[in-house]
Amino acid sequence: MPKSQSLGTAVSIASSLLAASMSRKLRIESKDFAIIGFRPVSRLVGSDRNPLEFHPMIEINLSGKRALIMGVTNARSLGWSIASKLHEAGADLAFSYQGERLQGELEKLTADIPSSRLYQVDVTQENELASMFADLTTAWGQIDYLVHAIAFAPRAAMDGRYVETTRDDWVTALEVSAYSLVAIARHAEPLFSEDAAMVTLSYYAAEKVVPKYNVMGVAKSALESSVRYLAYDLGGQGVRINAISAGPMKTIAARSIPGFMKMYKKAASISPLRRNADQNDVGNLGLFLLSPMSGGITGETVYVDSGFHVMGMELGD
Ligand code: NAP
Repeated sequence: MPKSQSLGTAVSIASSLLAASMSRKLRIESKDFAIIGFRPVSRLVGSDRNPLEFHPMIEINLSGKRALIMGVTNARSLGWSIASKLHEAGADLAFSYQGERLQGELEKLTADIPSSRLYQVDVTQENELASMFADLTTAWGQIDYLVHAIAFAPRAAMDGRYVETTRDDWVTALEVSAYSLVAIARHAEPLFSEDAAMVTLSYYAAEKVVPKYNVMGVAKSALESSVRYLAYDLGGQGVRINAISAGPMKTIAARSIPGFMKMYKKAASISPLRRNADQNDVGNLGLFLLSPMSGGITGETVYVDSGFHVMGMELGD
């Protein structure tokens, strides 16, 4: 039988089995059939509740794993989208936030996440980084996953022309948005478990000119390059690191980019998928890149931008 025909047959058999079980006429035990992509986890006995229960055949189970997420302001933060997926997969979580003003929001967000740990850390302060990692050493002993979701550039550096960037603004943007990844990796290195993984967040302006992104584009180039060098340094102990290059998303940081909404709408209209990628897309990719599912991938920049970066020209309708 040709492949497509046999798949069609399998699908129709599966539908019949499902329909039969829903109407409670059929009693089937899990050994009786196997459908590619799903495995039955309970006997089908036509009970009043859940007559048929399927679980994905491959599941991501991170229970017992420990993840530190750095850079969450609110529920729209890209760091939070990855954190929620890690939580759904069963990992224990710790968070760092920059200023005291964010503490209340983070406490609210994490209220339903048992035993989550919160740290106030400005990544430009070595002593604050050191004290968080010292506490994690005592509390956890090791770290399995680390999410770096931090960036900052002074507004003035994004309002004008790149050529006018001041020395101070350039240094600040690069220090907070790119050097912080290096500092964090160094502090975390002794705590990393055997198959630990890190992700950071980047943007397409790292490789092409995006007007107004200016020094932040340069910082993202340094960030993506750092990911490659860190991948090499940490790879010997089995630790992986990758960058997620996300399309424009409505977050607090995005609001500080002049003309962001114009960029947001334009990206959706040009992208092959004709929509913007969203926080859920970022969360799923983050989960994949941290989990053993991506075991052979490191030093990479992976896009979640509805395909925007593959376009070379846009002609309109
Ligand atoms: P966000 O919610 O505002 O997160 C950015 C975080 O960085 C904030 O929590 C911010 O804290 C923190 N931060 C800034 N300076 C810091 C410092 N010195 N020490 C510690 N934390 C500091 O915005 P987001 O969009 O999710 O940004 C997360 C990452 O995604 C960034 O790297 C961003 O460039 C990247 N990204 C975003 C988009 C997008 O369109 N949103 C697209 C691609 C990539 P405060 O709130 O206290 O400043």
